Amino acid sequence: MRRLVLVGAGHAHARVLLDFARRPVPDVEIVLVSPVALAPYSGMVPGWLAGHYAWEECCIDFVSLCRRAEAALRPNAVVALDPAQRVLLLSDGECIPYDWLSIDIGATLTPPKAERMALLPVRPLSALQMRWDALLDEIRTLPPDTAYRVAVVGGGAAGVESMLAMHRRFTGLAPQVKFQFTLATQGNELLPGMAEGAVRRLAGHLARRGIEVLHGFSADHVDGTHIVGEDGRTIPADAALWATGAQAYRWPRQSGLQVDERGFIRVDAYLQSTSHPNVFAAGDCAGWCKPLPKAGVFAVRMGPVLSRNLRAAIDGAWLKAYRPQRRYLVLIGTGDEHAVAVRGGLSAEGGWAWRWKQAIDRRFLGRYNGE
Ligand SMILES: Cc1cc2nc3c(=O)[nH]c(=O)nc-3n(C[C@H](O)[C@H](O)[C@H](O)COP(=O)(O)OP(=O)(O)OC[C@H]3O[C@@H](n4cnc5c(N)ncnc54)[C@H](O)[C@@H]3O)c2cc1C
Repeated sequence: MRRLVLVGAGHAHARVLLDFARRPVPDVEIVLVSPVALAPYSGMVPGWLAGHYAWEECCIDFVSLCRRAEAALRPNAVVALDPAQRVLLLSDGECIPYDWLSIDIGATLTPPKAERMALLPVRPLSALQMRWDALLDEIRTLPPDTAYRVAVVGGGAAGVESMLAMHRRFTGLAPQVKFQFTLATQGNELLPGMAEGAVRRLAGHLARRGIEVLHGFSADHVDGTHIVGEDGRTIPADAALWATGAQAYRWPRQSGLQVDERGFIRVDAYLQSTSHPNVFAAGDCAGWCKPLPKAGVFAVRMGPVLSRNLRAAIDGAWLKAYRPQRRYLVLIGTGDEHAVAVRGGLSAEGGWAWRWKQAIDRRFLGRYNGE
């Protein structure tokens, strides 16, 4: 029996398991290594922060997917890889040999150390959940008229959408508290690369809620209850969400797999490692030949190509090239059952956009969770 090991319950692997459930690969044992059984679907995470969904409602159930694909689930994390020997080392000390390996582990984020501030990195998403619940408990019990300062560091889509979601959640949960919200962005513009009209709309939502936006702020470290910028400016914060760019996990680089300059696994057009042909990578952890935004839409679209190419690698057939979509629909929730829709240079907004986003996201999850 030959073995295909999937590392990470990421968006692309959900599709691989679904395809393998529908059309099994004979004589191949499939193993999924994942420390989590429920993996969040990124599109619904800001809705969860805003309180529109319970955590379970926005997760893909990998236990059920593995059962349907007759794959074995190892509830662990990979800590090391020896691609020459074709063996993985898991966090519990187990070694797993493989014939083919596919990696879809997303990305991480290392925020500065903070002792007197609740500092929550947004990646990995599954780690955010526990810290978020603890923060909500703290906020819920704050005495009336307490001054509480909330910051988000990062002015990309995740930072802006999370800030709007947090505003809605915190003010609804603890109306007795005097909140002050600040969003810090490194560049001179919010949402770099997004259509001008959409940036204007979202900046309007932030302004109408009294959320201060600090431009040109490069966070350097945290000192007590202050985030200190490289230029010496400070942001006072009791709680901060860290939403700066994605960083690569270290073990793929340490294993000797070829990686790009940021440490993401270098793959060719077929999502195949450029150094080890029996290793594939997809989603945020993959450094595609041309750099792609670290966004779930790409991980999702890589899924069918990854699935096809894993099957082809097993069968010794031709691989298919992945072609990233040039334009795609982005729906950014504003926390209040309203969303801004963006495609290319065009944007529009309304309650209809939020309902549209909900319908797309629920249909997506329904497909994986077998509803
Ligand atoms: C707050 C926020 C909101 C976002 N909203 C959107 C959005 O609306 N639309 C969008 O397109 N993108 C969005 N993104 C980006 C999106 O979350 C990521 O691009 C997407 O999740 C990447 O998918 P993936 O398959 O690469 O990895 P992930 O979905 O991150 O999955 C990786 C999995 O691998 C597991 N893993 C990690 N390390 C190991 C290991 N060593 N061993 C085994 N398993 C491991 C993790 O536990 C995780 O389950 C958002 C991001 C954030 C932070």
